[in-house]
This record gives sequence, C-alpha cells and structure tokens, in this order.
Amino acid sequence: MVPVPNRVKSQKKQNKSIIEGASKIEQFVTFWGVRGTIPIPNENMLKYGGNTSCVEVLAIASEKNNSIILDAGTGIIQCAENALLRGDRIFHLFLTHMHYDHIIGLTKFIPFFRQDCEIHIYGQAKFGNSLKEILQKFFSAPFFPIEFFQLPALKNIFFHELNSLKIIQIENIKIEIQSLNHPQEALAYKIWSPDGKSNIVYATDHEHGTHKDVELEKFIRGCDLFIYDSTYSDSNYKNYIGWGHSTAKAGATIAKNGEVKYYAIFHHEPESSDEYLETKILQEAQSVFKNSFLAAEYQTINISELNALLTDK
Ligand SMILES: [Zn+2]
Ligand SMILES: [Zn+2]
Repeated sequence: MVPVPNRVKSQKKQNKSIIEGASKIEQFVTFWGVRGTIPIPNENMLKYGGNTSCVEVLAIASEKNNSIILDAGTGIIQCAENALLRGDRIFHLFLTHMHYDHIIGLTKFIPFFRQDCEIHIYGQAKFGNSLKEILQKFFSAPFFPIEFFQLPALKNIFFHELNSLKIIQIENIKIEIQSLNHPQEALAYKIWSPDGKSNIVYATDHEHGTHKDVELEKFIRGCDLFIYDSTYSDSNYKNYIGWGHSTAKAGATIAKNGEVKYYAIFHHEPESSDEYLETKILQEAQSVFKNSFLAAEYQTINISELNALLTDK
C-alpha cells in the first residue's frame, strides 16, 4: 500500500490551507473509502483504494468548518484521524444502513476511544431495535472484545433516529433523506452547502430497476455531485440480480435523467482492479453520461471546481 502516514499528512496540510484560504462558502468532498462489501488490500487496486465506504462532506464558511461523515466503513479510520489532526472534536456521522462494510470502521473509530469528543450518530432503528441497541449489539461478545458501555466516549455519544424524517438540519447544513432499494433498506443523503447553492447526493447501496429509481431521479435533480452504488459492470450484474447493488451504466442513466452535474462511480466491487475500473466500469458509465468519474480513496474535490476534475485527468 502507499504509506498511509504521508497521505494523512498531506491531507492535513490540504485541509489547513483550504480552511485558511477560504474567503467564501465552499463545499468539499473527500472519499476516504470507496470499496463495497469488504476491504481489499491488493496491489492492483492502489489507485482507487481498498477501504470500504466513507465519504466526508466539509463545508467552510468564514474560516469555520463543518464536517458531515457519511458511513463508517474502514475509510472512517483515516477520516477521523485527519479530522482530529484538523482540530475537530464534534462528529456528525450518518449511516446509510448497518451492513458490515458501512460500519466495520467503528471498531477503530478513534473518537469512540477518547473522552474529549462529542459524537452524533444518525441512522434508522430496525427490526424492533433502536439505533443505539443495534450498535450495542455490534460492540458485544463474542464479536468484539469491548462492550459498547465500556467505550471511553460513552457519555458523549448521541443517537438520532431518522425513520420518519425527510429532512434534518445541523447548524447551517440541511440534509435531506431518501429511501433506497436494498435488502433491509438503505438511506440516501443530500447534503447542502451552508448557503444552499450547492449539494451532494450520497446514494449507496441501491439496486436499480424499481419505482425507487424514479424517486431517486427526483431526489438528485440538478445536484452538483451524485455519488452512487456502481458495483457491477453490465455483464457482471447478470450474476447478482437481487443482491441489492447497481451498475455503472444504470448509475449513468439515473445521473442523466436526474440532470446532475457530475456522477461519482462508487462502492467498487472488491474484485475490480484499477485496470478493470478504468477500461470497463468507467467506459460503460461514460458511454451514457460523459461527466462520470471513478471515486478514488483520499481524493478531495472542491465542488465549485468540479470542472477541473475532469480536465485534470
Ligand atoms: Zn455496501
Ligand atoms: Zn448493504
């Protein structure tokens, strides 16, 4: 693997210069983990990365930053370390659903193991369990050596159930919520910039082909960046119908119908090498929607400079 400490260091520097240099309201997205299903350390996947789902949306207004973390796959480990280095002590973590690839990073989420952080967790209660009870089960014997009630941050962890909500406000950030087509359901989130001028939609995990595609197209309409479950190529998908995931081409079609500005191909299949992603998955997406790109681990995008992203490649 590319040495992680160097990447964290450069990310920290980048964050510092971003915050100090920001004179207006800006919105940044960092992909900390872009893989689906299971983390995959493999030399053929270094360019796009092997950590599972975690995306950070950082808004900066008047040199004050406001971070929203989406999902807690293994990518959240570096995300949290970087945020702590930046000086963050309050964390807002939105979980799409509770499948392991989206929560496994919580076992090494450093703010849980400190007493000086405030952690807000947002997600759904499910199967008669509150959101808190679900995470208590996750941190319990014989799955994990530390029980939830033993976490050093325990008294500073707050749960926010989203089951009946369509919209939630965190300080000056508005977040909209949409149901996706996935076993046991997943939620998509739309995160607005503080001035309401730009927005990002994070929509994983989702299988296309139902009425929920139309709802999703409506939800994403005109968004600046659409991050979507693009697990399979068209030919692979035939073997996985009903598993709850989608294809790059379906993502591109939804992006096109929803008239989004840019589409980030996300939740890469653990078997997809860098070469396969570039020669197959990306090509399939761009054959339908030109402004498609492959989400890559540690990539930070300034939403107001999305055009440069494609011309830089
Ligand atoms: Zn997943
Ligand atoms: Zn899932």
